[in-house]
Amino acid sequence: MAPLIAIVGGGPSGLTLARLLECNGIDYIVYERNGSSDSHNHQGGTLDIHGATGQEALRRGGLSEEFENMARRDATTAHIVNMSGKHLLTFGEGRDAPEIDRVQLRAILHKSIPADKIQWNKAVHKVERDAQNNIIILFSDGSSAGGFRLVVGADGAWSKVRHLLTSAKPKYSGKTYIEGKISPNNPIYPKLEAKVGRGSLIAFGPSKNLAVQQMSDRSYRIYLGITVAEDFFIAGNANVDLSVDDGAQARQFFLSNSDYFAEWATEFNELIASCEHGFRKWPLFYLPPETLVWEHDSQVTLIGDAAHLSTPFVGEGVNCSMYDALVLAEKLKEHGTGPGLDRAVEEYEKDMFKRGRDLIERSMGSGELLFANDAPKSLVQVIKGNA
Ligand SMILES: Cc1cc2nc3c(=O)[nH]c(=O)nc-3n(C[C@H](O)[C@H](O)[C@H](O)COP(=O)(O)OP(=O)(O)OC[C@H]3O[C@@H](n4cnc5c(N)ncnc54)[C@H](O)[C@@H]3O)c2cc1C
Repeated sequence: MAPLIAIVGGGPSGLTLARLLECNGIDYIVYERNGSSDSHNHQGGTLDIHGATGQEALRRGGLSEEFENMARRDATTAHIVNMSGKHLLTFGEGRDAPEIDRVQLRAILHKSIPADKIQWNKAVHKVERDAQNNIIILFSDGSSAGGFRLVVGADGAWSKVRHLLTSAKPKYSGKTYIEGKISPNNPIYPKLEAKVGRGSLIAFGPSKNLAVQQMSDRSYRIYLGITVAEDFFIAGNANVDLSVDDGAQARQFFLSNSDYFAEWATEFNELIASCEHGFRKWPLFYLPPETLVWEHDSQVTLIGDAAHLSTPFVGEGVNCSMYDALVLAEKLKEHGTGPGLDRAVEEYEKDMFKRGRDLIERSMGSGELLFANDAPKSLVQVIKGNA
């Protein structure tokens, strides 16, 4: 017999839901397209986990101790500087939002779930309804699964489940991050560590920025935030023929072009020039907030980015996603998985629509400040006003 609940996607939202269902004795299965370990190289970056949302979900899942063992509570400080390197503001000291590497968070959640409850390397190709209106999951390996009471799409930005509930499609924000890396053995490292320390630094210029964040292995991730068209990096397009995988070509492009970082202070030029290997690009998409409403369906729902993909400019995507899992699990516990399941899902969605829309809208607003022509002037005013 099929498990009661199928969770499509084993990212932070899907695995948090799995853990909470496990704790509540509710039967489920997770389908994840990546392997249990081979995806880790592609999952870079550090996430700040907030007390009332992400941490609360972990607490309810009995994982606070595991989290605290890995969380970096000394990494919450952020420095804001301008493109000349002038220091403008430091904030975030002692904030209840410790950093944890994405791979560490995933490992904590993954280890908390019995091995037979996750099917790795199980990419969902399509999710559809059969003639009896039952949901069938079709996998890329040719197999299929069905008979679930509830299918939860936790499969991120390009969800294969979303279309069953809404025609909403991710929209490109006009902004892209280009991610590079500086390891502790890089000659520039001591200088960078002296400037950034355990936390982060963001430098601003007109319509662009450069962020530096320390990871748990003490390496730094560098993010070049640029405003470019969606097809900017597509080979042969009218603007540029640039592959960021080719580190030398990308460094040369950003450093020699006055539209990007050529006119920034020498320290930033050195930093970009010192980035190792190729870069990775993150074109940033979001779901238009007004699309965050759909007619409730008793067999299927969405959590995390699948439901409310947003740009990452308020640093809350993962927190909101984990909190979705908490609310859904709590509602299922409260109303049961029999006749009450429908009500549980409906109440979860009502709560999530509000939070999801709010997240997307705040992040859009923050994006305007972070990429403004006069950045970081308005941003600094807002931060000082909120302090
Ligand atoms: C550059 C960048 C920086 C960010 N920084 C922050 C930050 O600092 N703080 C913060 O709170 N948020 C941040 N976010 C947002 C955060 O990463 C997301 O909100 C969060 O990862 C959402 O979790 P999720 O589990 O819903 O989706 P995802 O993390 O996207 O996980 C989805 C999972 O589903 C799997 N999957 C996808 N398709 C299929 C399929 N067809 N079949 C099976 N499995 C599938 C994927 O392999 C993945 O494991 C950032 C995002 C970006 C792009």
